Amino acid sequence: MQNIENYNFEGKKALIRVDFNVPLDENLNITDDTRMKAAIPTINKVLEGKGAVILMSHLGRPKGAEDKFSLKSIVAHLAELTGREVKFADDCIGESAKELAANLKEGEILLLENLRFYSEEKKGDEAFAEKLASLADLWINDAFGTAHRAHASTAVIAKFFPNDKMFGYVINGELTSVDKVINDSQKPVTAIMGGAKVSSKIDIIENLMDKVDNIIIGGGMTFTFVKAMGGKIGSSLVEDDKLVVAREMLKKAEEKGVKLILSTDALVADNFSNDANTKECAVHEIPEGWMGLDAGKDSIANFCKVIEESKTILWNGPVGVFEMSSFEKGTKEVAEAIVRATEKGAFSLIGGGDSVAAANKYNVADKVSYVSTGGGALLEYIEGKELPGIEAVRK
Ligand code: AMP
Repeated sequence: MQNIENYNFEGKKALIRVDFNVPLDENLNITDDTRMKAAIPTINKVLEGKGAVILMSHLGRPKGAEDKFSLKSIVAHLAELTGREVKFADDCIGESAKELAANLKEGEILLLENLRFYSEEKKGDEAFAEKLASLADLWINDAFGTAHRAHASTAVIAKFFPNDKMFGYVINGELTSVDKVINDSQKPVTAIMGGAKVSSKIDIIENLMDKVDNIIIGGGMTFTFVKAMGGKIGSSLVEDDKLVVAREMLKKAEEKGVKLILSTDALVADNFSNDANTKECAVHEIPEGWMGLDAGKDSIANFCKVIEESKTILWNGPVGVFEMSSFEKGTKEVAEAIVRATEKGAFSLIGGGDSVAAANKYNVADKVSYVSTGGGALLEYIEGKELPGIEAVRK
């Protein structure tokens, strides 16, 4: 594995796997270009080193070649972000791509059409990977969002560049940040785990038990834990098949000396809607017909106190239904407490779909140490799993 920092790009064509899977509206306008912006430092590094750049990505979940998933929709914006002309190959392999790649000169950028127009991409087809590889002299993996997939462009392709493969700045940044949280952290370390379901967070919570001092449990998950402890949760979200797991987690936390911090009170509603009637009550005494949709005042204050006393913070998942303004207080205050902790010197990492959306909503994304673009890949990495896209470069 090589290092992007000191690799000599002069006269070389770099095939960069980026994550340009950006959200588009019905008129195919980009509604959030975070992922595109994130790729710019890697692109610039190659261009400044007198190389040429060939970009490849997926977009959405096309079934074959579908116009609405064409990467041509992002060409103009990419040209704006890079300040350069962007050439486009309307097929990621084949003669046109070959010709455009062969004629690409120093300082030029070529974007290939959506990789997932070929089912071979997700299948990790070796012949397809070889065709992609034939376009360039080196491969840079900079798509952290797909690093947990063994696809042709994210992992299989590595074998065609045994001496010319490396991570880009996005992946380097992600790995460094996660390591600061789980392997090389300053205590006390606090993980805030929210979101809807325990089932999707079990592995990550278990792995974190060996690495953190506090785990704040928020969001819909709360009620599975509260019910497991014998509380009354009304019609709150619950996973009855996870009650045993929740009990085991509580026990394990106690054995390991990890504080599992649950809500003591909840903001409850008589309806899953923004204009429902609401009131606050003890989290284990929610009346029939009422559901907990946000943490209560005391719980929020306690969460914030723990966060502000932490030196390392990982946040994954909102602590309430923050999409509705009536139930956003907990999530907003958690976000702001993380900013205050960061200002006092803590290292803070926000990752996983909805917490990133919340960080953007409350304008804290640039006031914390790192916001991951990783989603599922980040969670799997924190769970301690090997990610094919990471292993393929390191091996
Ligand atoms: P996840 O994808 O598991 O991180 O879940 C995120 C979703 O959990 C968000 O859409 C929240 O609205 C939802 N959520 C958070 N708290 C609750 C709650 N108390 N009841 C139901 N859904 C919740």
